[in-house]
Order: sequence, then C-alpha cells, then structure tokens
Amino acid sequence: MDNKDKYKNQFKAVIPGIEFSKLEEEITKYWKENKIFEKSIESRPENKKWTFLDGPPFVTGVPHYGSLLSSLPKDLFGRYFTMKGYRVRRVWGWDGHGLPIENKVENKLEIKRKRDIEEKIGIDKFITECKTYVEQVSAEWEWYIDKIGRWVDFKNAYKTWDISYMESVMWVFKQMYDKGYIYKGLRVSLFCPHCSTPISNFEVAMDSENYKDITEPANTYKYQLKNNKDTYLLAWSTTPWNKIATPALAVNPKLTYIKIKQNNEFYILAEQTQKILKSDPYEVIEKIKGSDLIGQEFIPHYKFYEIEKGKKAFIVVGADFVTADEGTGVVTLAAYGEEDLVAMKKENIQLVMHVDDEGMVKEGVGQFSGMYYLKTNKLVNEDLEKRNLMYKQEDHLHTIPNCWRCQTRLYYAPQNAWFVDIKNLKEKLIKTNEKINWYPKHFKYGRFLKNLENAPDWNISRSRYWGSPVPVWECTCGQRFVPGSIKELEEKSGQKVKDLHRPEIDKIKIKCDKCGKAANRVPEVLDSWIESGSASFAERHFPFEKNIKLEDFFPPDFIAEYTGQIRAWFYTLHVIGTALYGCPAFKNVLVEGVILGTDGRKMSKNYGNFPDSKKMLEKYGADALRLYLLGSPVMKGEDVLISEEQYRNQVKGTMLILWNTYNFFITYANIDKWNMGSQKVKVKSQNSLDRWILSKLNNLIIEVTKGLDKYDTVLPVTKIQKFIEDFSTWYIRRSRDRVGLSADNNEDKDNFYFTAHQVLLIISQLLAPIAPFISEEMYRNLTSEESVHLSNWPREDNQLIDKQLEQEMKDARKLVEVALSFRKQAEIKVRIPLKEMEYCGPSKLKEAVLKIVRDEINVHSLSFKKEEKEFLVKADTSDENKDLKMGEAREIIRKIQGERKNLKVKMDEKVNVILPDWPKDHEDFIKRKALIGKLEKGPLFKVLGNE
Ligand SMILES: [Zn+2]
Ligand SMILES: [Zn+2]
Repeated sequence: MDNKDKYKNQFKAVIPGIEFSKLEEEITKYWKENKIFEKSIESRPENKKWTFLDGPPFVTGVPHYGSLLSSLPKDLFGRYFTMKGYRVRRVWGWDGHGLPIENKVENKLEIKRKRDIEEKIGIDKFITECKTYVEQVSAEWEWYIDKIGRWVDFKNAYKTWDISYMESVMWVFKQMYDKGYIYKGLRVSLFCPHCSTPISNFEVAMDSENYKDITEPANTYKYQLKNNKDTYLLAWSTTPWNKIATPALAVNPKLTYIKIKQNNEFYILAEQTQKILKSDPYEVIEKIKGSDLIGQEFIPHYKFYEIEKGKKAFIVVGADFVTADEGTGVVTLAAYGEEDLVAMKKENIQLVMHVDDEGMVKEGVGQFSGMYYLKTNKLVNEDLEKRNLMYKQEDHLHTIPNCWRCQTRLYYAPQNAWFVDIKNLKEKLIKTNEKINWYPKHFKYGRFLKNLENAPDWNISRSRYWGSPVPVWECTCGQRFVPGSIKELEEKSGQKVKDLHRPEIDKIKIKCDKCGKAANRVPEVLDSWIESGSASFAERHFPFEKNIKLEDFFPPDFIAEYTGQIRAWFYTLHVIGTALYGCPAFKNVLVEGVILGTDGRKMSKNYGNFPDSKKMLEKYGADALRLYLLGSPVMKGEDVLISEEQYRNQVKGTMLILWNTYNFFITYANIDKWNMGSQKVKVKSQNSLDRWILSKLNNLIIEVTKGLDKYDTVLPVTKIQKFIEDFSTWYIRRSRDRVGLSADNNEDKDNFYFTAHQVLLIISQLLAPIAPFISEEMYRNLTSEESVHLSNWPREDNQLIDKQLEQEMKDARKLVEVALSFRKQAEIKVRIPLKEMEYCGPSKLKEAVLKIVRDEINVHSLSFKKEEKEFLVKADTSDENKDLKMGEAREIIRKIQGERKNLKVKMDEKVNVILPDWPKDHEDFIKRKALIGKLEKGPLFKVLGNE
C-alpha cells in the first residue's frame, strides 16, 4: 500500500487551538467560490416554496446589534426550510424614501427651513441630491451580513426608490382607493413644524426616546356666560396657544355639574372635580345636568375671526369624550385636537386654524402674529391673568411626543390629508389577525390586537418631496384621476413617464374627464410606511412582471422583526394585505425584543454602553453570536442587556466543547484508520453508551425540529447545548479507553466510531441553521460532501429511542456524583482504585450501566445493598481497601502522557521511558496505555521520543 492509498479515506486533521473567526472567513470564501448559497436554492424544487419577506433596513442606518439580531432568525429559518427541502428565495431590500434621507440632504445643503427647498434650492436639485445620497449605500452592511453568515442576495437588492417598486406602490394605492379605503379629509394628526409635515403616531411610538416628560403650567380659565355677568364656566387646559382660537366649550351631557359661589363670583364645573377649586371658602348654589348646559353662549377671550355664515361659535356643546378624571369637566375646543375636531365638525362649529405649517401664528392674529406657537403660551396666560380670566395656574407633568427625525416637539394639527379608513377596515383587520401565527403567542391578542383596536385612521400623505407620489390628479371641479400603472398614466396624459419622483411627476398633466380643464397631481408624497407595507408586491414588481402568480409569494410564510414593528411594519403590512385581499399579509411572524446597553439604557455611542459589534465579531466570530442571541429570551420578544461575557462564554462553552469532541473523534479515527468506507455493514452496537447517546440524539432531532417548526429558536439552542455537554462529559469521556492503539477490541472500536460519527454528523446538521460555520467545517470533513447546507434535515429513528436506558443512565450519573463526593470527603484521589464499595438507591443498576459507573469512579466491585430514596455509597476508607499498586501505575501513566504532550509526540507514536521504579504487576498495562516501546530503569524519570 503506498502513501496515497493509505491516507485516501483519512479525515482532515483538526486544529486544536482553533480561532473560530478565522475559520469562518475561510468558509465564507469557500461558499462564495463554490456558489453554495445559489446551489442551496437551485437544488430545491421550484414548486415547493417557502417564502420570506425581508423588512428593508433604512439606507441611512449603520449596522448595529439590533439590525444584526433581525438577520439571525431570517437566516436561520431560510437555511432550515432549505434543508427541509423547500426553495427559499432570499433577496435583500433597501428602504430609501422619506424624512431620514431628506434630513440628511437638508443638512448637507444647509437648509434650515422647509420652504427653502422650494424657494432657494429648487425641488429638482433637492431630489437629485436625495438620489445621489441613497445610491451611496454603506459598504459596511455587506461586511456585517457576510460576517454573521447571513445568506441573502445582496446584488439584486430591491430599492424602494426604483421606478418598478414605485409603480407597484402606485398600484397598491389604486387598489385601496377603488375599494373605498382611502379618503381625503380634514383630520388631526401629529405634526412636525420643523419638517412641516404630519407624522404617523406609530413612527413616534416606535422608539420610547421620542417621548419626553416635561412640567408645564396647567391652567383653569374662566369663560363668562353671555347672559350672566358674574357666572363663569371653568375650563382646564395645557395648551394656552389654543386659547387664541377657542370657538367652543364642551361638557359631558351625562355628568352632573355644580354652580358654586366663591369670592362673589359664580363658577360652573363638574361636581366630581371640586378638588381643583382654590382653598377659599365656597358654597354650592345649585346642581345642573350637563345636558342643560348645552347651547349656553359664552364671551370669547379673543375675537380675531369673523364667524362664517351658517357656522356656530362661542357656544357650549356636548361631547362624550369629556370626563371628570382630570380638570373641571369642561373642555376648551380647538381645531388642534383630534377629538375636538370631530366634535366641532359634528356641531358645525367654526373651524379656525391660526398656526401655519412651520408652527408660526398666522397674520391677522393681533399681537401674536408671526410668533412661534409655543412662545405665545406665556403671553396668553399673562394677558388673561391681567384681564381676570385666569382662575388658577399650577404645574403639571405630562409626556410630549417629539419628531422621530429632528426631535422637534410635535403638536396635533388639523390636516387636509389622505387617510386610510382604518375605522372601516377595523373589523376585518381583527378577523384576519386570527389567522396569523404569532411567536411568541401573546402578541397576537396582546399588543397587536390592542393596537388594532385603538388605531386611528392612518394619515398616509406627507407634505414633502422624496417619496412615492400620492398618485391622484385632482381637477378644480373636484374630479379625480387615480392611475394604477405608468401605462395608464401615459395613455391618459399623452406624456412619457420616465420618473415617478417629484418634480418630474408634477409635470404630468391630465385632461379632466368632466370639465376638460387641465388637472394637476396633488402635491403630497406617500408616507414611506405605505411603501414598506407594500413590499410583498413591490419587491417583485407585481402585478406587472409576467410569470409571477400571487399565490407563489403572498402571503409570505415568514417575517421577523423587533417589537417596535408591531405598531409599524407588521401593522402596515397587515392593513395593506387585508385591504387588498381580505387575508393576512403574512402567515408566521417572529417578534424579537430589543438589545439594550450594558446599563439597561438604549445602546448609544454617547453612553459608551455596549461593546463594539465589529470588534466582537472579529474576536469571537459569528457562530458564537448566533448561539448567544438565538438562545436568548430576546428571541421571545423580551428585552435583554448586551453582554460580552455571555457572548464569549459561547466560545468557551458550546463551541470549544463541541470542537474538542470532534477533534477527539477525528484524531483517533485517523490513528485507528477508521473511516466510513471501512464500515462494511451498519452495525447495531449493543454497548450501553452507544445505545444511550443514540437514543438521546434521536430525541434531540425530535425536539429541535418541533421547536423550529414553531419558530422557537431558544429551545432548540438550549437542547443542542445540553446535548453537546452530555456527549462530551459522559459519552466521549467514558469512551476514551475504547479507542487508540492501547485499545484492542476492534468490534467495540467500530461501534464507537460509527456511533460518534453519526452523532457528530447529526449535530452538525441540527446546528447548521443556527451556527452555519462550525457545522459546515465538521460536516464536510465527516462526509466529504460539498456542504451541510445542501444536505437534508435529519429524521429521527424511533427504534433507537430507549427511554428506560436514558433513565438508567441518569441514575448512573447521579450515583457517580455521590461516589465522587464521597471520595472527595474521604480525600482519596480518583486515580487510586477502591477495591469495594456499596451503594443504596432507588433501584439496582443493570450490569452494563454499572460497569460504566465503576470505570468512572474507579472501583473494582460495586454492590447494591438496599433500596433507599436517594443514592448513597459506603466504603472502607483505610489502605486495606485501596489498590495502591494500580494507583501508582495510573500516576505513572498520567506523568508520561503529560510529558508526551510537552514533547509534542504524536498520539500514535511510541516513546521510550526511563523510570526509577514501577509496579511490576502492571508493567504491561503501563506500556500499553502510555504507548511505550522500551521501559528502562534509571535514576530519573525521562521520556524519550522514539527516533
Ligand atoms: Zn421633524
Ligand atoms: Zn374638471
């Protein structure tokens, strides 16, 4: 046999001091060079799809633990379902429209006010800058995505600003419009005076840092009744700037009010709110039903506006939203409040909008004109105080929302805007949620349902520039044209449409069907959440691309993002899916928690409260990060603190333990020249250790599969980790004597190798979706196949599961624990065999298992005495009961093995040893175990390599 043949079936030797990060780099290179990712898709049948929709990250963002976290389950389940035989398309996407980009460009062009975009810069130049900006996508993303081992098609990423994507968004809008789910109307939304645009409440709600607690004066104002000089309604408010234009007061018709006399004036307020009154003595004059106050007129504090004909003003109206929980049970109404506006419209009250879209009080509002609205607060209060119209002022702590982009304080403002009619959709939204599989379950009827129940109509138009246009052409006569495709728009306008962005799209005019005049597009662009919510369709340019059927991708099987998306992306997808097709927009959703800084605050460079993710990845590698996070409660929607220690422990723990068992197997298999080819028939080992580990292994397959099928990653990771520990600390440990040149039972060797090979192979498959690198390395060496990720998910063999044996082994390990602690207490080293020991316990162990215990605790005879509840051992601790000669022999072997390591002698290489003395009865034993060629007497202990 020549050398070539001799090593033909040998395994590649394992590097013991492995650096996982380096290994991962090599594997990434291997995957790329051999197109393993592409093969993993193409090798699966086209008609068996598992679809996944990626929530596109924002182009402006830089990768952080949060974005990496989301990538992990996306990659895990993609790999898992591929191994289960599905074709899993995975294309990256970029979200690049909206305020974040506009803000960056504003900064670059030093734009301070929104109106400068039109007046100084020009929309054309502004949009060109936005386009340039989004095309310079940070190269850092690709590094991270590669590094964490995420398989995704980066090159063909879809972009929300591509014309094809935008056309699908246009189509989505049209579908919703035609179904009657979109309307234009005057409604109150959160509004940013810096960005001069309405903001979605969920954009603010996504990050708790957008809310600030502040203390401001709360005021109780006096409104004099028109027909009753000394009687005032007391109304409570925290927005003095709105007192400039308060055309009505509201009471709850169902509440009881009282009229009181205090310091010669009469006040009306809800009976339950007397605690707000000043401490001066007062008497209750009469009780009044809320409904009786309706229609009373009052004298306004300011009268800057003419009252339009047919409109009411300065009158008390009834409204159910008024409560006695806070304030006086009397509320000032202004157009700048959500419920206020609804009530005012209902009661036909004059609407007054006195603040412009940059937060400035408009012309014609007396001394307040031209002032920033917040600045008027103090002046209004001083003025009313002077005029004796202020009853009381006190400090009030409340939470205010801030712009998620520019951090400017937001206010509620009436907007003539485009809305999705959520109220009309609500029942369906709640119904379609029933069909979604949420993991963890509690979000389904918890946060998501609550959010659905409370959701207001969704303001989907933005008074901005960089986004998909609101695709509506509106004539002055009121006629509208809403195209659902570029072709339709081109036909109608007779113009070529090359770009759907402003200002190009604004140049497209159509002829009104009704009156023949030229109609313009409405000026707004769409909320970018409409775009990301349309991702299912738009990423495939549906329905324009030929050969794509809806059922092939919608609803997708799986999406995964963090809890913040419950009110955002999950919600917008759900609204659009339900509106278009009356079905859920996704079948399964995994909700991750948030990774917080080491101090429990949000991770922030300013706080320096998190370890640098790039450095960590370079140091410990991706598999460890994946094991750490995929096994953490963050995968069950819980928030966790980032911990370098826990990350590092994955390397020291699971990764190295597994690597060492793998190393042990490969090293000895090579020494014993065992390989899969030398295995003539599939052996059925009768060895208890083999049967035990195979039983555990098959249980593991069942548990991991069950977990992953439910989108639970924590249980599978935990179970695999526990298994690896059992495999190393019990199976491999107890099998050490079965292999190598010192072992002579060839049949048992085969049994061991076959079993351990099987175990390592299946572990690498079960681990493949979780830790794709280490599993790839092991699997390829164990099988000589191309990739673990091209292999099929293992199936359990129920015949190998032996619950009884597992219980016996559990008992055996308990007994070992007890016996070892007995030795420790008696200060007898494990190396010195005890001749006899007795044990008591719940059951008598079978001989096959008992033998393993004897070996482990180094006892020649271990006899069962009687039943007791727990395991106990008893033994004579005198020298009489110790096999000292054997102990000495083992001590010598230990020393020689240590020296072999120091001399770096291979494990299958014999050494010559010089010793002053040794127990002659055990000479053969020593020579065999320590692989000694010549054993000679000499004054000093010495190990010589065998030259
Ligand atoms: Zn803003
Ligand atoms: Zn018209």
